Amino acid sequence: MNTFFSRSLLSLCCALPLTALGASEDDLIAQARAIHERVLTLDTHVDIPLNFATSEFMPADAEAQVNLNTMQSGGLDGAFFSVYVGQGARDTEGNLHAKADALAKFDAIHRMTDSLYSDRIGLATTAAEARALHAEGKLVALIGMENAYVIGQDLSLLADYRARGARYLTLVHNGHNDVGDSAQPQARFNDADEEHQGLSAFGYQVVDELNRLGILVDVSHVSKATMLAATAHSKAPVLASHSSARALFDHPRNMDDEQLLALKANGGVVQIVAFNAYLRPAGETATVQDLVNHIDHVVQLIGIDHVGISSDFGGGGGISGWNGAAETFNLTLELVRRGYSEADIAKIWSGNVLRILEQAERVAEGG
Ligand SMILES: [Zn+2]
Repeated sequence: MNTFFSRSLLSLCCALPLTALGASEDDLIAQARAIHERVLTLDTHVDIPLNFATSEFMPADAEAQVNLNTMQSGGLDGAFFSVYVGQGARDTEGNLHAKADALAKFDAIHRMTDSLYSDRIGLATTAAEARALHAEGKLVALIGMENAYVIGQDLSLLADYRARGARYLTLVHNGHNDVGDSAQPQARFNDADEEHQGLSAFGYQVVDELNRLGILVDVSHVSKATMLAATAHSKAPVLASHSSARALFDHPRNMDDEQLLALKANGGVVQIVAFNAYLRPAGETATVQDLVNHIDHVVQLIGIDHVGISSDFGGGGGISGWNGAAETFNLTLELVRRGYSEADIAKIWSGNVLRILEQAERVAEGG
Protein backbone atom coordinates (compact mmCIF):
# COMPACT_ATOMS: atom_id res chain seq x y z
CA MET A 1 0.00 0.00 0.00
CA ASN A 2 1.46 3.33 -0.90
CA THR A 3 1.75 6.03 1.68
CA PHE A 4 -0.78 8.31 0.09
CA PHE A 5 -3.40 5.59 -0.02
CA SER A 6 -2.78 4.46 3.57
CA ARG A 7 -3.09 8.05 4.79
CA SER A 8 -6.36 8.48 2.93
CA LEU A 9 -7.73 5.38 4.59
CA LEU A 10 -6.59 6.54 7.99
CA SER A 11 -8.24 9.90 7.53
CA LEU A 12 -11.54 8.17 6.85
CA CYS A 13 -11.49 5.93 9.85
CA CYS A 14 -9.46 7.37 12.70
CA ALA A 15 -9.13 10.43 14.85
CA LEU A 16 -5.35 10.49 14.79
CA PRO A 17 -3.49 13.77 15.24
CA LEU A 18 -3.55 15.81 12.07
CA THR A 19 0.22 15.75 11.92
CA ALA A 20 0.25 11.97 11.74
CA LEU A 21 -2.06 12.07 8.76
CA GLY A 22 -0.03 14.51 6.74
CA ALA A 23 -2.74 17.12 7.18
CA SER A 24 -2.70 20.14 4.96
CA GLU A 25 -0.67 23.10 6.10
CA ASP A 26 -3.85 25.14 6.47
CA ASP A 27 -5.43 22.52 8.75
CA LEU A 28 -2.33 22.33 10.86
CA ILE A 29 -2.13 26.11 11.27
CA ALA A 30 -5.83 26.27 12.15
CA GLN A 31 -5.39 23.54 14.76
CA ALA A 32 -2.35 25.31 16.23
CA ARG A 33 -4.20 28.66 16.27
CA ALA A 34 -7.07 27.14 18.23
CA ILE A 35 -4.68 25.57 20.75
CA HIS A 36 -2.68 28.80 21.03
CA GLU A 37 -5.92 30.65 21.75
CA ARG A 38 -7.02 28.23 24.48
CA VAL A 39 -3.87 27.49 26.47
CA LEU A 40 -2.31 29.89 28.95
CA THR A 41 1.04 30.83 27.43
CA LEU A 42 3.54 31.93 30.05
CA ASP A 43 7.12 33.06 29.50
CA THR A 44 9.18 32.63 32.67
CA HIS A 45 11.83 35.26 32.01
CA VAL A 46 11.35 38.78 30.65
CA ASP A 47 13.77 41.51 31.65
CA ILE A 48 12.76 45.10 32.27
CA PRO A 49 14.85 48.26 32.41
CA LEU A 50 15.15 50.41 35.52
CA ASN A 51 12.94 53.07 33.91
CA PHE A 52 10.15 50.55 33.22
CA ALA A 53 6.65 51.97 33.59
CA THR A 54 7.79 55.57 33.42
CA SER A 55 7.17 58.01 30.57
CA GLU A 56 10.47 56.81 29.10
CA PHE A 57 9.33 53.19 28.84
CA MET A 58 5.60 52.64 28.85
CA PRO A 59 4.75 48.93 29.12
CA ALA A 60 1.91 49.09 26.56
CA ASP A 61 3.87 50.23 23.54
CA ALA A 62 7.54 50.73 24.40
CA GLU A 63 9.94 49.82 21.60
CA ALA A 64 10.91 46.47 23.07
CA GLN A 65 10.60 42.76 22.38
CA VAL A 66 7.72 42.55 24.83
CA ASN A 67 5.01 45.10 25.47
CA LEU A 68 1.35 44.70 26.31
CA ASN A 69 0.26 45.33 22.73
CA THR A 70 2.53 42.65 21.28
CA MET A 71 1.69 40.25 24.09
CA GLN A 72 -1.95 40.58 23.08
CA SER A 73 -1.40 40.44 19.32
CA GLY A 74 1.02 37.52 19.62
CA GLY A 75 -0.97 35.57 22.17
CA LEU A 76 1.63 35.69 24.94
CA ASP A 77 -0.72 35.60 27.90
CA GLY A 78 1.70 36.11 30.74
CA ALA A 79 5.26 36.56 31.85
CA PHE A 80 7.46 36.50 34.87
CA PHE A 81 8.90 40.02 34.80
CA SER A 82 12.39 39.95 36.19
CA VAL A 83 13.70 41.89 39.13
CA TYR A 84 17.23 41.39 37.86
CA VAL A 85 20.25 42.93 39.49
CA GLY A 86 23.70 42.28 38.02
CA GLN A 87 26.46 41.09 40.28
CA GLY A 88 28.57 43.83 41.86
CA ALA A 89 30.85 44.32 44.81
CA ARG A 90 29.99 42.04 47.72
CA ASP A 91 30.26 44.66 50.41
CA THR A 92 27.84 46.85 52.37
CA GLU A 93 27.66 49.53 49.70
CA GLY A 94 27.22 47.00 46.89
CA ASN A 95 24.48 45.15 48.77
CA LEU A 96 22.61 48.41 49.46
CA HIS A 97 22.81 49.36 45.81
CA ALA A 98 21.51 45.95 44.74
CA LYS A 99 18.59 46.24 47.14
CA ALA A 100 17.74 49.74 45.86
CA ASP A 101 17.69 48.55 42.24
CA ALA A 102 15.54 45.57 43.19
CA LEU A 103 13.01 47.79 44.97
CA ALA A 104 12.91 50.13 41.96
CA LYS A 105 12.01 47.22 39.69
CA PHE A 106 9.35 45.88 42.07
CA ASP A 107 7.82 49.38 42.16
CA ALA A 108 7.91 49.58 38.36
CA ILE A 109 6.07 46.27 37.89
CA HIS A 110 3.47 47.35 40.44
CA ARG A 111 2.97 50.68 38.63
CA MET A 112 2.13 48.63 35.53
CA THR A 113 -0.29 46.20 37.19
CA ASP A 114 -1.76 48.35 39.99
CA SER A 115 -2.27 51.70 38.28
CA LEU A 116 -1.14 52.32 34.69
CA TYR A 117 -2.65 49.21 33.09
CA SER A 118 -4.73 47.56 35.77
CA ASP A 119 -7.48 47.07 33.17
CA ARG A 120 -5.19 44.98 30.94
CA ILE A 121 -2.73 43.11 33.16
CA GLY A 122 -2.86 41.83 36.71
CA LEU A 123 -0.22 40.65 39.15
CA ALA A 124 -0.55 36.98 40.08
CA THR A 125 1.04 35.73 43.28
CA THR A 126 -0.38 32.20 43.09
CA ALA A 127 -1.01 29.71 40.33
CA ALA A 128 -4.75 30.09 40.95
CA GLU A 129 -4.54 33.86 40.50
CA ALA A 130 -2.65 33.41 37.24
CA ARG A 131 -5.35 31.09 35.91
CA ALA A 132 -8.14 33.40 37.09
CA LEU A 133 -6.63 36.44 35.38
CA HIS A 134 -6.32 34.47 32.15
CA ALA A 135 -9.91 33.31 32.42
CA GLU A 136 -10.96 36.96 32.81
CA GLY A 137 -9.16 37.81 29.59
CA LYS A 138 -6.39 39.77 31.27
CA LEU A 139 -2.67 39.44 30.77
CA VAL A 140 -0.79 37.90 33.67
CA ALA A 141 2.29 39.33 35.34
CA LEU A 142 4.31 37.35 37.82
CA ILE A 143 7.58 38.41 39.38
CA GLY A 144 10.86 36.55 39.51
CA MET A 145 14.04 37.86 41.09
CA GLU A 146 17.35 37.18 39.38
CA ASN A 147 20.45 37.03 41.57
CA ALA A 148 20.40 36.48 45.34
CA TYR A 149 22.82 39.41 45.46
CA VAL A 150 19.58 41.37 46.07
CA ILE A 151 19.56 40.06 49.65
CA GLY A 152 23.25 40.43 50.30
CA GLN A 153 23.59 38.47 53.54
CA ASP A 154 20.22 39.50 54.97
CA LEU A 155 17.86 36.51 54.97
CA SER A 156 15.01 38.66 56.33
CA LEU A 157 14.76 40.52 53.02
CA LEU A 158 13.23 37.44 51.39
CA ALA A 159 9.95 37.86 53.26
CA ASP A 160 9.88 41.53 52.23
CA TYR A 161 10.42 40.61 48.56
CA ARG A 162 7.78 37.91 48.80
CA ALA A 163 5.29 40.51 50.04
CA ARG A 164 6.14 42.56 46.95
CA GLY A 165 5.20 39.59 44.76
CA ALA A 166 8.42 37.67 44.11
CA ARG A 167 7.76 34.00 43.38
CA TYR A 168 11.16 32.79 42.25
CA LEU A 169 14.72 33.69 43.09
CA THR A 170 17.62 32.84 40.79
CA LEU A 171 20.33 32.04 43.31
CA VAL A 172 23.30 33.34 41.34
CA HIS A 173 23.96 35.33 38.16
CA ASN A 174 27.21 35.93 36.27
CA GLY A 175 29.87 35.76 38.96
CA HIS A 176 29.89 33.91 42.25
CA ASN A 177 27.96 35.44 45.14
CA ASP A 178 27.48 34.74 48.84
CA VAL A 179 24.93 32.01 48.12
CA GLY A 180 26.76 29.86 45.61
CA ASP A 181 28.89 29.45 42.52
CA SER A 182 28.04 30.73 39.07
CA ALA A 183 28.04 28.74 35.84
CA GLN A 184 30.01 31.69 34.50
CA PRO A 185 32.68 32.90 36.95
CA GLN A 186 33.78 36.46 36.16
CA ALA A 187 37.38 37.55 35.75
CA ARG A 188 36.33 41.13 36.63
CA PHE A 189 35.56 39.88 40.17
CA ASN A 190 38.70 37.69 40.25
CA ASP A 191 36.40 34.68 40.54
CA ALA A 192 38.08 31.30 40.90
CA ASP A 193 36.50 28.41 38.98
CA GLU A 194 34.70 27.56 42.21
CA GLU A 195 34.37 29.45 45.46
CA HIS A 196 31.93 27.40 47.53
CA GLN A 197 32.09 24.04 45.69
CA GLY A 198 28.32 24.33 45.34
CA LEU A 199 25.99 26.11 47.77
CA SER A 200 27.56 28.07 50.60
CA ALA A 201 26.42 27.50 54.20
CA PHE A 202 24.38 30.71 53.80
CA GLY A 203 23.04 29.31 50.52
CA TYR A 204 21.49 26.33 52.32
CA GLN A 205 19.75 28.79 54.67
CA VAL A 206 18.48 30.73 51.65
CA VAL A 207 16.99 27.56 50.12
CA ASP A 208 15.31 26.73 53.45
CA GLU A 209 13.86 30.24 53.69
CA LEU A 210 12.62 30.15 50.08
CA ASN A 211 10.90 26.83 50.85
CA ARG A 212 9.36 28.32 53.99
CA LEU A 213 8.03 31.32 52.04
CA GLY A 214 6.78 29.47 48.96
CA ILE A 215 9.23 31.14 46.59
CA LEU A 216 10.63 28.84 43.90
CA VAL A 217 14.36 28.15 44.00
CA ASP A 218 15.67 29.03 40.52
CA VAL A 219 18.77 27.11 39.46
CA SER A 220 19.45 28.84 36.14
CA HIS A 221 22.88 30.56 35.98
CA VAL A 222 24.29 28.51 38.88
CA SER A 223 27.18 26.07 38.53
CA LYS A 224 26.44 22.37 38.15
CA ALA A 225 27.58 21.64 41.72
CA THR A 226 25.42 24.47 43.06
CA MET A 227 22.43 23.26 41.03
CA LEU A 228 22.79 19.68 42.25
CA ALA A 229 23.16 20.81 45.88
CA ALA A 230 20.17 23.18 45.79
CA THR A 231 18.02 20.62 43.98
CA ALA A 232 18.85 17.86 46.45
CA HIS A 233 18.25 20.15 49.42
CA SER A 234 15.03 21.90 48.37
CA LYS A 235 11.84 20.47 49.85
CA ALA A 236 9.85 22.00 46.97
CA PRO A 237 10.44 21.38 43.26
CA VAL A 238 13.03 23.74 41.78
CA LEU A 239 12.77 25.84 38.64
CA ALA A 240 15.39 26.48 35.99
CA SER A 241 13.71 29.65 34.74
CA HIS A 242 15.80 30.06 31.58
CA SER A 243 18.25 27.30 30.59
CA SER A 244 18.64 24.81 27.77
CA ALA A 245 20.01 21.27 27.31
CA ARG A 246 23.75 20.67 27.29
CA ALA A 247 23.43 17.36 25.43
CA LEU A 248 22.36 19.37 22.38
CA PHE A 249 24.66 22.35 22.80
CA ASP A 250 27.64 22.43 25.11
CA HIS A 251 27.40 25.73 26.97
CA PRO A 252 27.97 26.20 30.71
CA ARG A 253 24.53 27.86 31.03
CA ASN A 254 22.85 24.68 29.79
CA MET A 255 21.94 21.68 31.95
CA ASP A 256 23.50 18.30 31.25
CA ASP A 257 21.58 15.03 31.44
CA GLU A 258 22.75 14.32 35.00
CA GLN A 259 21.25 17.66 36.06
CA LEU A 260 18.03 16.98 34.15
CA LEU A 261 17.68 13.62 35.89
CA ALA A 262 18.24 15.33 39.25
CA LEU A 263 15.56 17.84 38.29
CA LYS A 264 13.14 15.02 37.53
CA ALA A 265 13.88 13.34 40.85
CA ASN A 266 13.11 16.64 42.59
CA GLY A 267 9.94 17.18 40.54
CA GLY A 268 11.27 20.40 39.03
CA VAL A 269 10.96 22.09 35.64
CA VAL A 270 13.44 23.51 33.11
CA GLN A 271 12.26 26.37 30.91
CA ILE A 272 14.10 26.11 27.59
CA VAL A 273 15.30 29.59 26.67
CA ALA A 274 15.32 31.41 23.33
CA PHE A 275 18.88 32.60 23.84
CA ASN A 276 20.92 32.26 20.68
CA ALA A 277 24.27 31.64 22.35
CA TYR A 278 22.88 28.67 24.32
CA LEU A 279 21.43 27.04 21.18
CA ARG A 280 23.94 27.68 18.37
CA PRO A 281 27.65 28.46 18.00
CA ALA A 282 28.64 32.13 17.64
CA GLY A 283 27.81 33.43 14.18
CA GLU A 284 24.93 31.01 13.62
CA THR A 285 21.29 31.94 14.03
CA ALA A 286 19.14 29.74 16.23
CA THR A 287 15.56 29.05 15.23
CA VAL A 288 12.32 27.96 16.82
CA GLN A 289 13.13 24.47 15.53
CA ASP A 290 16.37 24.50 17.54
CA LEU A 291 14.50 25.54 20.67
CA VAL A 292 11.92 22.80 20.23
CA ASN A 293 14.74 20.26 19.68
CA HIS A 294 15.77 21.06 23.26
CA ILE A 295 12.20 20.58 24.45
CA ASP A 296 12.10 17.22 22.65
CA HIS A 297 15.32 16.15 24.35
CA VAL A 298 14.05 17.02 27.82
CA VAL A 299 10.74 15.27 27.15
CA GLN A 300 12.53 12.13 25.94
CA LEU A 301 14.89 12.07 28.92
CA ILE A 302 12.68 13.11 31.85
CA GLY A 303 9.13 13.44 30.53
CA ILE A 304 6.54 16.02 29.55
CA ASP A 305 5.99 17.25 33.13
CA HIS A 306 9.40 18.86 33.51
CA VAL A 307 9.79 21.36 30.65
CA GLY A 308 8.59 24.80 29.66
CA ILE A 309 9.52 27.89 27.65
CA SER A 310 11.23 31.20 28.35
CA SER A 311 12.49 34.03 26.17
CA ASP A 312 14.96 36.19 28.11
CA PHE A 313 13.54 39.04 26.01
CA GLY A 314 15.04 42.32 27.14
CA GLY A 315 18.04 40.42 28.50
CA GLY A 316 19.68 39.15 25.32
CA GLY A 317 17.04 36.60 24.30
CA GLY A 318 15.49 36.27 20.87
CA ILE A 319 15.92 33.80 18.01
CA SER A 320 14.76 33.59 14.43
CA GLY A 321 11.00 33.06 14.58
CA TRP A 322 10.66 34.16 18.21
CA ASN A 323 12.29 37.53 18.51
CA GLY A 324 9.45 39.21 20.33
CA ALA A 325 6.10 38.55 21.96
CA ALA A 326 4.36 39.23 18.63
CA GLU A 327 5.82 35.98 17.21
CA THR A 328 4.79 33.70 20.06
CA PHE A 329 2.42 31.63 17.92
CA ASN A 330 5.39 30.17 16.01
CA LEU A 331 6.30 28.10 19.06
CA THR A 332 2.86 26.57 19.42
CA LEU A 333 2.81 25.86 15.69
CA GLU A 334 6.15 24.02 15.88
CA LEU A 335 4.95 21.99 18.89
CA VAL A 336 1.83 20.99 16.94
CA ARG A 337 3.97 20.05 13.92
CA ARG A 338 5.98 17.70 16.14
CA GLY A 339 2.83 15.94 17.29
CA TYR A 340 2.44 17.32 20.79
CA SER A 341 -1.16 17.16 21.99
CA GLU A 342 -3.05 20.14 23.37
CA ALA A 343 -2.65 18.70 26.88
CA ASP A 344 1.12 18.45 26.35
CA ILE A 345 1.31 21.98 24.96
CA ALA A 346 -0.68 23.32 27.91
CA LYS A 347 1.85 21.74 30.26
CA ILE A 348 4.81 23.11 28.30
CA TRP A 349 3.35 26.62 28.06
CA SER A 350 2.40 27.02 31.73
CA GLY A 351 0.95 23.91 33.34
CA ASN A 352 4.27 22.62 34.57
CA VAL A 353 5.57 25.82 36.07
CA LEU A 354 2.21 26.62 37.69
CA ARG A 355 2.11 23.10 39.11
CA ILE A 356 5.45 23.55 40.86
CA LEU A 357 4.42 27.01 42.07
CA GLU A 358 1.41 25.34 43.70
CA GLN A 359 3.67 22.66 45.18
CA ALA A 360 5.95 25.37 46.59
CA GLU A 361 2.88 27.05 48.10
CA ARG A 362 1.92 23.75 49.77
CA VAL A 363 5.43 23.20 51.13
CA ALA A 364 5.28 26.72 52.59
CA GLU A 365 2.01 25.88 54.30
CA GLY A 366 3.64 22.80 55.79
CA GLY A 367 1.61 20.46 53.57
ZN1 LIG B 1 19.53 35.42 33.08
